[in-house]
Amino acid sequence: MPTLFAKIIRGELPSEIVYQDELVTAFRDISPAAPTHILIVPNKVIRTVNDLRDEDEKVAGRMVIVAKKLAEREGIAEDGYRLIINCNRHGGQDVYHLHMHLIGGRQLGPIAQ
Ligand code: AMP
Repeated sequence: MPTLFAKIIRGELPSEIVYQDELVTAFRDISPAAPTHILIVPNKVIRTVNDLRDEDEKVAGRMVIVAKKLAEREGIAEDGYRLIINCNRHGGQDVYHLHMHLIGGRQLGPIAQ
């Protein structure tokens, strides 16, 4: 069964894709928590941070570099933003296809609740 995000990456589910390359895809969160809320996702399915392997270093690094570039493009780089990866139940992960949230555009609250 393809993950929800795998379907978005392949264009089988509608979404607003803002960036795509050979390693990662970024699209706007369907339920934004802030004016900018983008998900940066590896094109290949990696379920959680726990499943990252040494050979995934390039894709993991690309996720951060793309987040930084998108923050600049969104005009939120200077004021600041937050990058979040939730992992498993205690981390509040809902979709089991690794993704990094890029959230900004307003003053954010405490990091953990
Ligand atoms: P997490 O709780 O870290 O697994 O985050 C999952 C995120 O995916 C949530 O912020 C959802 O709003 C978002 N989401 C779920 N379905 C979609 C979708 N079809 N398109 C875009 N974002 C989605």
